[in-house]
Amino acid sequence: MNNKKATDKISLKIAAIYMSIGIIWLLFSDRLLTIFAGNSENFAQALIIKSWLFILATGLLLIKLIRYYVSALRRSEDARNQAEDDARHLADYDLITDLPSPSLFKDILGEELSKAQSKPGALSVLSIHIDRFKEIGDAIGSSASDQVLTTVAERIALSLREADSCARIGDHEFNVILPKIKDEEGAAFTARRLMTQISKPLEIGINELHLTACIGISLFPKDGVERDTLVSNAHTAMHLAKRRARNEYAFYSREQSAQAVKNLTLEHSLRRAIEKNQLVSYYQPCVDISTKRIVSAEALVRWEHPEKGLIFPGDFISLAEDNGLIVDIGNFMLESSCNQNKLWQANGLSPLNLSVNISARRFEQEDLVETIEAATARTCLEPRFLEVEITESTIMNDAQSAQKVLGQLKSMGVRILIDDFGTGYSAIDTLTSFPIDVIKIDRSFIKNLSTDPHCPVIVRAIISMAHILEMTVTAEGVETLDQLEILRSLNCDSVQGYYFSPPVPAQDFVQLRRDHM
Ligand code: C2E
Ligand code: MG
Ligand code: MG
Repeated sequence: MNNKKATDKISLKIAAIYMSIGIIWLLFSDRLLTIFAGNSENFAQALIIKSWLFILATGLLLIKLIRYYVSALRRSEDARNQAEDDARHLADYDLITDLPSPSLFKDILGEELSKAQSKPGALSVLSIHIDRFKEIGDAIGSSASDQVLTTVAERIALSLREADSCARIGDHEFNVILPKIKDEEGAAFTARRLMTQISKPLEIGINELHLTACIGISLFPKDGVERDTLVSNAHTAMHLAKRRARNEYAFYSREQSAQAVKNLTLEHSLRRAIEKNQLVSYYQPCVDISTKRIVSAEALVRWEHPEKGLIFPGDFISLAEDNGLIVDIGNFMLESSCNQNKLWQANGLSPLNLSVNISARRFEQEDLVETIEAATARTCLEPRFLEVEITESTIMNDAQSAQKVLGQLKSMGVRILIDDFGTGYSAIDTLTSFPIDVIKIDRSFIKNLSTDPHCPVIVRAIISMAHILEMTVTAEGVETLDQLEILRSLNCDSVQGYYFSPPVPAQDFVQLRRDHM
């Protein structure tokens, strides 16, 4: 459009100059001829020269005009081609990393697959996902995140061979095609090299970042012959790797993927269950072995599913640990237990200690002490009536920080219980190094008390040790009178189990308490 305007303007200019010269020529050329030519013979020759001059000037002007038009046409064509190239580049390449876009990636993969089909050889698709990228992005801002992505793209390129291709598929997700690998090990080798490159320290401004990535691998033709199948299977494998840990790679596996789909569905409905308040707390009493009075209780989560009925924690707790929903579950249980305990006190029932289970994942989080403090403050429950149950392995994961957290809880007045005692790997260390109030002997020791002669010996040793260290002992999973009597003879302090009551809803628990007053 601009070019057209410019050419019109120049053409007008040339036409104006041409017309002006023409008018001047018409008005003055004959007069000049008379002055310069003099006699009539010269005049005739000069007239011929004048005509030639006129033709020459007109010709030159026409040449100039035509040349101008041609070059203007060329310029506008070049500009249009450039604009088309730019548009194509924008559609085919990612703006931030300049890597191929998802659609170009599909085309490349299509071509590679047709080559692989004509001459057999393994081809592999890798799905790379940068771990915790959203958290990192929130912390460093969007332009720094773009810088990180660009560096990651460069590092991926560094780890690949010339024949390989890489594309940015999602926010922090990349796909790679390895068209010439020998076997599975070849793909695994590249995955490991990619993980090493990506995890090198990365300086962004004043921050030093340590990125990690999870990689899923699908192989042609084993895991699919279609383009979309290979990509989606690599993506599924990436999720399998993510579930295992950060900085992991995994091959696609049909069985594991079926399980992953099941887990994903369960995760989705668990998320909705939390939003729709379908989680409830059940309470199981803990009874003093000599007085048979309820001295404390454990709050245990249940999922009241509208169609499937009551779902037990065994069916969803480990999944919730994996996907982080355990944090929401833990917060709900903490808040509702403190609230319920305070309500019982307000309704005139004698105060009792109520324990909540703290998962390993929740225990690792920095805001645990703060959250517990806030829950007791909000519900006006004195912290001494709250107990937290932690397993030995949770504590031993990071003994140093566990010591700090438990110390803080203890100084608030919260009581510390070790759950499933005896199943961990460092029983004596746990007992002597941490501020523990109660140990709960794992059900596996109680189950075989009357049948396995080793069990009473172990249980007696645990009880003696705990008493020396001024801790009390609760036996978990007591189901029979026999077990109860053996535990009494071993000097156990209290018991929890179906013999007295399974976990029950809050209203039934009130009745239980009245029965065991
Ligand atoms: P746990 O903390 O060791 O809880 C004791 C489990 O033993 C409970 O299973 C309880 O119902 C069961 N139990 C109690 N007495 C007996 C008995 O006499 N015989 C038998 N066979 N079982 C008995 P539940 O409620 O299914 O919970 C299982 C596990 O799930 C709990 O083990 C705990 O690790 C976890 N869990 C439950 N609720 C929560 C929660 O709110 N948060 C977290 N993080 N974990 C929870
Ligand atoms: Mg427990
Ligand atoms: Mg237990």
